[in-house]
Amino acid sequence: MRPLLINGEWLTTSHASENINPSDTSDVIDSFAQAGLAETQDAISAADAAFASWSLSTPQKRHDILKTAGDEIMRRKDEIGELLSREEGKILAEGIGETVRAAQIFLFFAAESLRLTGDKVASVRPGVEVDITREPAGVVGIITPWNFPVAIPAWKIAPALCYGNTVVFKPAELVPACSWTIVDILHRAGLPAGVLNLVMGAGSVVGQCMVDDARVNAITFTGSVGTGARIAKDSLPHMRRLQLEMGGKNPLVILDDADLDVAVDVAVNGSYYSTGQRCTASSRLIVTEGIHARFVEAVAERLNNLVVDHALKPGTDIGPVVDATQLEQDCAYIETARREGGNLRTGGALLKRDTQGYYLSPALITDTTPDMRINREEVFGPVASVMRVRDYDEALSVANDSEFGLSAGICTTSLKYASDFKRKSEVGMVMVNLPTAGVDYHVPFGGRKNSSLGPREQGSYAKEFYTTVKTAYTAP
Ligand code: ADP
Repeated sequence: MRPLLINGEWLTTSHASENINPSDTSDVIDSFAQAGLAETQDAISAADAAFASWSLSTPQKRHDILKTAGDEIMRRKDEIGELLSREEGKILAEGIGETVRAAQIFLFFAAESLRLTGDKVASVRPGVEVDITREPAGVVGIITPWNFPVAIPAWKIAPALCYGNTVVFKPAELVPACSWTIVDILHRAGLPAGVLNLVMGAGSVVGQCMVDDARVNAITFTGSVGTGARIAKDSLPHMRRLQLEMGGKNPLVILDDADLDVAVDVAVNGSYYSTGQRCTASSRLIVTEGIHARFVEAVAERLNNLVVDHALKPGTDIGPVVDATQLEQDCAYIETARREGGNLRTGGALLKRDTQGYYLSPALITDTTPDMRINREEVFGPVASVMRVRDYDEALSVANDSEFGLSAGICTTSLKYASDFKRKSEVGMVMVNLPTAGVDYHVPFGGRKNSSLGPREQGSYAKEFYTTVKTAYTAP
């Protein structure tokens, strides 16, 4: 049984939970201790107690620990990447790529620890000095989803520690192994007891306990809109800092003047890679009439040639869906889209492979309209729908017609349309001739509308969430 980490001690519990390989359900990866209320409260107490000292630790110490961890993750990228693919189901190249990115994030924030500055401002009053400094936010509760089991914990834990916060970390139930590995690396890198605590367990128990505890000063969460909304509501009495990254229904606009090969690459990558299980995946393909037939034909052909199989098998393009519940949800959305008048152009079939896994062929649904559920709700699977529009103006208006606003893309060779789209997209991230998913690790990440609440993640913008500003006045 892999233990919890509370106050610097590894702790087993009476109850354990197993994680299973979605490419091969007979492959049980490991078993993991499950925290209950008592363990979660102990973890919060430990983080609370460790804050006084860690918040005053030197930038050099934080740098050295984050750098040591980043270096080890990079050194072990193949092994951790394989574990990731085995546990979550994305293909090996993506698993290794995500691990490299996590290492880069730790190295970025290692250096960032040395860069925190303040301002000295002339006072409007004679002889008075004004200093503006940043201090850590306090105990940070980190709640993560299953789809990026290494990168998302990294992009929350690294800045939290970098800016002097202490952490209670609850990973998603489906992917404890990657989280455990990252925490083990950080622990061995020299973190003092209580600075980083790992509590694996149910969201409704462990996550909710963190949300209900007034000692948790800030919560950063990535997951569904429903859970995010609940965390926001339950956090209100505590007046705490919140950073919520939730769903997306990201549009990709294809204009008549697009380079067809680029558009097809961008659409297939953005919609279907990582089994479409990315909050930044393109799920609404908005295509102008002049290119519509050629685009749909070319995408369908590419999809038919993609290899859907075991995530660790060489040659696999698309791994399995993460679990039975998600697979059921994907199939239900495809069925609803058909009932509402969409045409399942290709894919959407359950596939049998050598191993028993959750295999679904990538689905392309054409002839859909903006009001259909498939264009309004997040599916989170290898499913994209096509809407045919007259021109750029209609495309922009359909793209913005969503409760979500995470990422949006356009394929065009026109500078005029590209510039206009960048300006008028109601999203946090916009891509020109690039997939809506796949972002850099050193620049802000986040969205608008119901996709996100609170300051951006990643890059130096992360300090907006992980620090609080103090203005100090001194008279001589
Ligand atoms: P998904 O549908 O992708 O699993 P969720 O929003 O259910 O998305 O889960 C994201 C994270 O939120 C997981 O770590 C989950 O355990 C956690 N979680 C679920 N319910 C709660 C809750 N009531 N309070 C806090 N965290 C929760």
